Amino acid sequence: MTTIPLAQIVLDNPLRKLFDYQIPKDLHTQLTPGCRVLVPFGRRMLTGVFIGFTDNAQVPEHKLKQIKTVIDQAPLFNHETLQLIMWAAHYYHTALGCAVFTALPPALRKADTHGTLHESYISPLQADAEKLQRAPKQKAIFTWLLEQQPHAVTQSELQQTFPKSRSAIQCLIEKGYIKNETRALPPQSQHPIDSHSLNLTPAQNSISQALLSRLNNFNPCLLEGVTGSGKTEIYFSLIEKVLQTAASQVLILVPEIGLTPQLQLRLQKHFSTEIGLLHSNITETTRYKTWLKISRGDIRVVLGTRLAVFTPMPQLKMIIVDEEHDPSFKQQEGFLYHARDVAIYRAKQNNIPIILGSATPSFESLHNVSTQKYHHLQLTERVFSDQLPSIHVSDMRAQSAGQILSRPLVDAMQRHLSQDKQVILFLNRRGYAPALYCHDCGWMAKCPRCDSNMTYHSTHNKLICHHCDYHMPKSSICGECQSSNVALLGHGTQRIEEMLEQAFPQYAHIRLDRDSTRHKGSMETILDDIHQHKYQIIIGTQILSKGHDFPDVTLVGVLDIDYGIYSHDFRAMERSAQLLMQVAGRAGRRNVRGEVFVQTHNPDHPLLTTLIQKDYTSFAQQALSSRKEYQLPPYVYHIILRARAGHPEAVQAFLIQAKNSAHTIFPKEIKIQGPIIPAMEKKAGQYRAFLLLTRTQRGQHTSLINAWIEHLSQQKNANRVYWSIDVDPIEFT
Ligand code: ADP
Ligand code: ZN
Ligand code: ZN
Repeated sequence: MTTIPLAQIVLDNPLRKLFDYQIPKDLHTQLTPGCRVLVPFGRRMLTGVFIGFTDNAQVPEHKLKQIKTVIDQAPLFNHETLQLIMWAAHYYHTALGCAVFTALPPALRKADTHGTLHESYISPLQADAEKLQRAPKQKAIFTWLLEQQPHAVTQSELQQTFPKSRSAIQCLIEKGYIKNETRALPPQSQHPIDSHSLNLTPAQNSISQALLSRLNNFNPCLLEGVTGSGKTEIYFSLIEKVLQTAASQVLILVPEIGLTPQLQLRLQKHFSTEIGLLHSNITETTRYKTWLKISRGDIRVVLGTRLAVFTPMPQLKMIIVDEEHDPSFKQQEGFLYHARDVAIYRAKQNNIPIILGSATPSFESLHNVSTQKYHHLQLTERVFSDQLPSIHVSDMRAQSAGQILSRPLVDAMQRHLSQDKQVILFLNRRGYAPALYCHDCGWMAKCPRCDSNMTYHSTHNKLICHHCDYHMPKSSICGECQSSNVALLGHGTQRIEEMLEQAFPQYAHIRLDRDSTRHKGSMETILDDIHQHKYQIIIGTQILSKGHDFPDVTLVGVLDIDYGIYSHDFRAMERSAQLLMQVAGRAGRRNVRGEVFVQTHNPDHPLLTTLIQKDYTSFAQQALSSRKEYQLPPYVYHIILRARAGHPEAVQAFLIQAKNSAHTIFPKEIKIQGPIIPAMEKKAGQYRAFLLLTRTQRGQHTSLINAWIEHLSQQKNANRVYWSIDVDPIEFT
């Protein structure tokens, strides 16, 4: 007698294991890896994904339950995608269930959503319309069907011919005149795709040619091109080439949802084919249908944010990661993957080219260039103007206290505005003022749930915590000594607005930050209005730095660049430099040379000086050599074990025990530091700390780390804290 093996199933939970189930005889042939199944779990029925067969049960046989049903006839994940997800779960030390269910569109996490695309077809069941005399609409539909579509017509087509006919159709079905049948949508045939390309400039052309010659296998290329140098057009020339082959698909990843509409439009204009859009701000239904069409190969150009990196694409032939330096590619909760890095792995797995584009490449990618893992291509000129903006430093030490705009910046604003140009003022701090301060005793309004100051928002007339969203009314007396000598300290974007009303009353301004773009569509409206010249001055946070093309902006004022210099995080300077260059890149994109004013209290800072007087490349080289000296990424690889709890003692106890067990498990190459308390220990009522593990090689000692994680979950105090593992963290908190 041969025994039927067991099925290994992943479930949507954080347990780091597969679950074994018995397979009823009649279901055995229906199981293919990547199919969803319905299984009993405790008292509930859960959706799981079938991974593979096994002969060795993890639990005694009498405890094994049976699979109830197999949901999908064809697997949702093909072999390649399943391998990719398994690799990512392994590399990021995440539960496979968590990884698999993150990769599934939300609608498909539910058992009742069809895993294949279906259409509803209507066909007549009889030939006599006589009895429908008293229901003229039903009669009209039925007669039309008999005469025009005696076999079958799709429900959507019928509804197009007879608008608002849903209830009439329903009545006809109930009375037995017609029937409604769901049938699978046949796959779409692939046509060659038309494209309408621009003539590339000589600089663009030579890069495009260099890339075209590398399209046949795994070939990571870093395309470093100043803002406005025409990188996107180069991507298009490559996509065009790839789509000329019949069975081909291209994946384009961007860091922000806000960047998709512009790029989607450009793609649509360029290629006459459906662009598959995938991000979290699309309705569940559209998203899973698009996902299914892509996984059938029906959609060939896919544009998405990080989550799109796990979409099954049977004919994937090229990946493009635009703005590759952007930290948004790293997911910050749940499954902590970095989409750029997963994309690199995916390209390697499929042996296809991948292009990473940026004006300010990440230090990781620059390091990979210097170790010859990536090919490096550079575009140093802009398409429309032969000069990059000139950058001036304004020494704020020379200004009187409390002055927000330096004299030279104000003069420049006058100059540019009077010539009918637009001006950007960049300040990466939303709200009105970041502190409420008592001049008598030094008290500051603090968030009761976080170790941080409350920010005053004038639009709500409230103090708001930017870390946990706690709100409280603004008091006019000190919380400590009851003095009324309290004042708002510092500036946020709202205060700049107020100041502009006095300083530049004749020019209209608009604020672009998370508060002003919270409502759906408001971002698009604001961007449109800027393009229509409704506003002359644009005040914004980092939202402004992302890829937007404002043709008439000729002046950019960076109001405060000092944040990166004072931060505890060793990456802060890299971020600030990228932000500065990106924002500066908004100036003078058409013919007129742009100007940038950078305000700082540290005009002599060596890195800042290099960045401004030379360029980003020189800055990065200098900063990288100090990373090397201090043995920081990208020269080593970090893993963080984070823990948080309502009491700091529980966090410490857990991490100290974890550290002890790490010492017994790991060889000396893995350095263990901590517990480290972050600059903001308490956040949203939880005390936080972490252990920092440093490896000298990527992915080194993965199985030992797995053993350690296994050990952690069995620690007696493990359930008194929330803990998580972050591989290649990008934030030190
Ligand atoms: P980047 O992606 O490097 O910021 P884009 O590809 O968006 O640059 O190009 C900037 C602007 O220049 C866009 O408006 C684009 O349409 C235009 N552009 C790029 N290449 C060409 C070209 N060869 N001919 C004409 N216009 C171009
Ligand atoms: Zn006081
Ligand atoms: Zn708070």
